[in-house]
Amino acid sequence: MSKVLIESPTVITLNDSQEILSDTSIFIRDGEIVSLIPENENPPDADLVLEGKGRVALPGLVNCHTHAAMTLLRGYADDMELLPWLQQKIWPVEGKLREEDVYWGTLLAIVEMIRSGVTCLNDMYFYFEAAEKACREADIRACISGVLLGILPTAEADLEKAMHFLSERRENGSQRIVHMIAPHAPYTCPDEMLKKVIAAAEKTGVGIHTHLSETKKEVEDSLAQHGETPIAHMEKLGMFAGPPVVAAHCVWATDEEIEILAKRGVGVAHCPGSNMKLASGAAPIAKMLAAGVPLGVATDGAASNNNLDVLEEARLAALLAKVTGCDPTAVKAYEALHMATRGGAEALGLGDVIGQITPGRRGDIILLDLKRPHVWPPHDLVSHLVYAARASDVCTVLVEGRPLMIDGVLKTLDEERIMAEAAACAERLAG
Ligand SMILES: [Zn+2]
Repeated sequence: MSKVLIESPTVITLNDSQEILSDTSIFIRDGEIVSLIPENENPPDADLVLEGKGRVALPGLVNCHTHAAMTLLRGYADDMELLPWLQQKIWPVEGKLREEDVYWGTLLAIVEMIRSGVTCLNDMYFYFEAAEKACREADIRACISGVLLGILPTAEADLEKAMHFLSERRENGSQRIVHMIAPHAPYTCPDEMLKKVIAAAEKTGVGIHTHLSETKKEVEDSLAQHGETPIAHMEKLGMFAGPPVVAAHCVWATDEEIEILAKRGVGVAHCPGSNMKLASGAAPIAKMLAAGVPLGVATDGAASNNNLDVLEEARLAALLAKVTGCDPTAVKAYEALHMATRGGAEALGLGDVIGQITPGRRGDIILLDLKRPHVWPPHDLVSHLVYAARASDVCTVLVEGRPLMIDGVLKTLDEERIMAEAAACAERLAG
């Protein structure tokens, strides 16, 4: 039995009442948040006591869509259109990927994410077993999926392998690592393959993770090929009728499609940094929020961002919605913070597990030091977190009550070795 006490931080709970509790200790037993203890009550004994006084406790940030090992391609090809970027730069290098590249690239991503307060990532990439191994070793929470590209000659075999893996893992899986099945996108996966994926998801009960309606060209091609926009087409194929779906981007979602997403409870992973960098457009997230679409923020891969800083994505989400809507009231600070934490958890179907600091949820909690010049004076902590804070303000990170970082010191990973190994992999791939 493990008992952890975080002493007296200001707790931004993200609970239904949106409570912010000053000088409140958090008691975690066996990975679960058991109680929030006001300052005038005595806290229970604990095996590990973490100093929280003067700090802010927040549910761990959720990176709702990434390709973690693409850290190896960070800065390798910038300032290009999406399709030439994929076809001329990214896919040729990915053709040379080995399992160990994905392992070290994912570990590099995890180090960066722990340092910036991310406790849960939704990953989609090649050699997903290597990504899963990295996540297990780091003790971080993850949704893992192997990318399925219908345009590859190995598509059928890849789907078979994913199916086999999923049926095995369903029996031996841990609560911290969950799996999804990941058709890359409608424009890389023909309908016949998507139908098989949907059937596989229904059979295994695992969720689907995909890219959807990312670029204007994708929408135009879908209209020409199917007479329908991509999200409407996926609805017709039955993608949203079974297990949960999380769709990255949805930049070009129409009003009718937003209704579909809301009605079906499809989680949307909003990637403002990637969408701006690739000039894909600005997703209509103010409309999605109003319609009740489960909405999280995400970095996408480090090759199109180029960092994995979820606090920055929350800020970009708020700013991009304001400038595109010519409306400074669009996506307020609390809404952006919600997307980075509880909204992301809900978009991944983990809303009952994480996303709030409240008894019964798992102990995925971060502490930030906001006693610094760029976040001072403390008028409004939520405003500071979204509009002024930096990833480096994160000092302590817990997943399931287990410390991954305490006061800036990593507890589960060897940062120096990971950076050296990742540099060697990147050199071989793209040096
Ligand atoms: Zn992506």
